[in-house]
Amino acid sequence: MTDTIFQKIINKEINADIIYEDEKSLVFRDINPVAPTHLLIIPKKQIEKISDANEEDQDLLGHLFLVAGKVAKELGIENAFRLVVNNGAGAQQTVFHLHIHLLADREFTWPPG
Ligand code: AMP
Repeated sequence: MTDTIFQKIINKEINADIIYEDEKSLVFRDINPVAPTHLLIIPKKQIEKISDANEEDQDLLGHLFLVAGKVAKELGIENAFRLVVNNGAGAQQTVFHLHIHLLADREFTWPPG
């Protein structure tokens, strides 16, 4: 299996604007932002998409959400941000390494597009 672009970022083979890192996760700025603040929260473990996660990933998935909240607090955006997970090409997933988009600092509408 060839490494995804996100695996290369984890391995530090290519640069990213990393704003948080711990032993299980990495957060960096999206290269093509759709909001003034657009972060990607990823597990270091290779999971292609959320529907491929299983019971053993329960703590890891919870960790990713806690990291989202922690980073949002650090950036002062904890009162208004949106988390998005695209699962599969039909839902516009383009990088097949699980990631949570964190969007903030713009108006949001509902339902999302
Ligand atoms: P998705 O469409 O949900 O798979 O989201 C993938 C996201 O990764 C897109 O918003 C891209 O702009 C972003 N992306 C792709 N390559 C990079 C990169 N090298 N650094 C940062 N973000 C990237």
